[in-house]
Amino acid sequence: MAILTVKTLGDPVLRRKAETVTTVTPELLRLAEDMLETMYGENGVGLAAPQVGMSVRMFVCDPGPAEGGARTPQVFFNPVLTDLRGKDLTEEGCLSLPGIRAEVERATALRLRAMNTEGSPVEREIAGYLARIVQHETDHVNGILFVDRLGAAQRTLLSPAMKELEKKTKSGVREMAQAGTGRGRPL
Ligand code: ZN
Repeated sequence: MAILTVKTLGDPVLRRKAETVTTVTPELLRLAEDMLETMYGENGVGLAAPQVGMSVRMFVCDPGPAEGGARTPQVFFNPVLTDLRGKDLTEEGCLSLPGIRAEVERATALRLRAMNTEGSPVEREIAGYLARIVQHETDHVNGILFVDRLGAAQRTLLSPAMKELEKKTKSGVREMAQAGTGRGRPL
């Protein structure tokens, strides 16, 4: 396994709509393992493939440690979310946006359709904290970042920090996400 470099705001890969996965290859399974190791290493609860420079529709997540529980790593390919319902406003951070946090409105429950590591279709009813993570990561494979979901006033407020981060990314300076605690861990 290997720790991968997390791409930060300003890297065009984060803005690309990622490619659909047709076959779960050994290379993709290795990528998933590396992404999980990277996510745990950075104390994150979710990580999408574009965040490590791979423009494929895949993400890994694990709300377990943030909830004080054991590790329960999960890998999903080609996620599609339907039946989104409920509303919750909670602060979010992102491993690709170190130093930037904001309250983001998300659905509290949803249905996730995806492909698992065996290449089989899965359908799951998801609620609570995991529903937030799944929405954040599915946004990533569509080239959407949590700051895109903020109101104009909040975006204006965060604009200087975002511009600064973009500048650092483009000049090759790597910012690390602060280690969040509990549900404040970055996604
Ligand atoms: Zn993120």
